[in-house]
Amino acid sequence: MEQNFNEYFVYKEGELYCENVKMETIAQKYKTPVYVYSKRAILNRINEYKEAFSSYDTLICYAVKANSNLSILKIMAENDIGCDIVSGGELYKAKKAGIPSNKIVYAGVGKTDFEIEYAIRENILSFNVESEIELDVIDEIAGKLNKKARVSIRVNPDVNPKTHPYISTGLRESKFGIDIDDATYVYEKASKLKNLEVIGIHCHIGSQIMEISPYIEAVEKTVQLIEKLKDRGIKLRYFDIGGGLGIKYRPEDKPPSIKEFADAVIPLVKRTGLKLIIEPGRSMIGEAGVLLTQVIFTKDKKSKHFIIVDSGMNDLLRPAIYNAYHHILPIQKKEEKVVADVVGPICETGDFFALDREIDNVKRGDYLAVMSCGAYGSSMSSNYNVRPRAMEIMVDNNRCYVIRERETYDYLIQLENF
Ligand SMILES: *Cc1c(COP(=O)(O)O)cnc(C)c1O
Repeated sequence: MEQNFNEYFVYKEGELYCENVKMETIAQKYKTPVYVYSKRAILNRINEYKEAFSSYDTLICYAVKANSNLSILKIMAENDIGCDIVSGGELYKAKKAGIPSNKIVYAGVGKTDFEIEYAIRENILSFNVESEIELDVIDEIAGKLNKKARVSIRVNPDVNPKTHPYISTGLRESKFGIDIDDATYVYEKASKLKNLEVIGIHCHIGSQIMEISPYIEAVEKTVQLIEKLKDRGIKLRYFDIGGGLGIKYRPEDKPPSIKEFADAVIPLVKRTGLKLIIEPGRSMIGEAGVLLTQVIFTKDKKSKHFIIVDSGMNDLLRPAIYNAYHHILPIQKKEEKVVADVVGPICETGDFFALDREIDNVKRGDYLAVMSCGAYGSSMSSNYNVRPRAMEIMVDNNRCYVIRERETYDYLIQLENF
């Protein structure tokens, strides 16, 4: 048995497949760079989440920022998954994809008046409010619209999720949420605002969390607060514990399973009797996608060997900003290995996918698959260096569908004026 990175991207006789489609066929037919997603992988994760939380009343709200492609959001909608949004644009796409408003929660420290009004008009389930002033503004806008806005308060439990500092969001010094010690006062204030209905509590401590213990700590702290609020007559309906579960980026990574996560938090949440909301992003979609790219050139400089590919930090930003590791596989296995930097064509030294990596000795024209790119890949992509964004393809068993066309040069200048 050949050792595969996961069960959706597998080698058969040295050739990499996504489900039952040969990656080489995709590369030749659609050209590169191209994001390739396995529909089966997405459906399996959805079902794992549903099953793990089936013993408790839970609303699963997929975090749209992980990957906002309409076809992916539609898969969520068809499977009764809600959405966690962080902008008006995400609300627009979620609605277009058919996500019902009563399954949409809205977080973010900087919601504009325009976005707040849009979300109130759409009648979303809840604003996850991140500051006292935001409460006042939502109350005021709801009043003007003659509506009531449902709100939850995002508390910051001061827990270290032991992940990259840029994606740690639950520490006291982070910009997110309201300090858990100040929360009682803020809840009392919110419950007096007449255009608001205070329905829940929210916390989200970070992303790519590889241990269960920070979740337990955060949920336990928040449960204490819920009990304190209850004593003061503030009754809530929803307990939203956010997202953040880690995924496999390195072959040796062992992220907690969804079941372990569920089994750890459900008993704690049960004590409150509140309906549970979870907001998985990366763990829903991350391992379902790869970035397929072609080797343009190889190049040797003194002791360094470079593999230069046709995709760069504009397509996949994570290595450049988080120094993130992505495993890279050849789509046709080679006999020989080299140690190389895999770099993009962009005029920045930060434009790399791997440094000093042992990898198959690929040459000009060969293809590479950058693994675990389903989340925070295409959604963080840009047109830097005036590069059209990559195409996106969904594989379903032995078929594939274009779910986003490759951008053209004409598309890139459409909004610009002389
Ligand atoms: C980003 C984000 C998530 C999703 O995080 P993942 O690590 O992708 O699961 C969930 N909730 C909020 C509020 C977020 O900002």
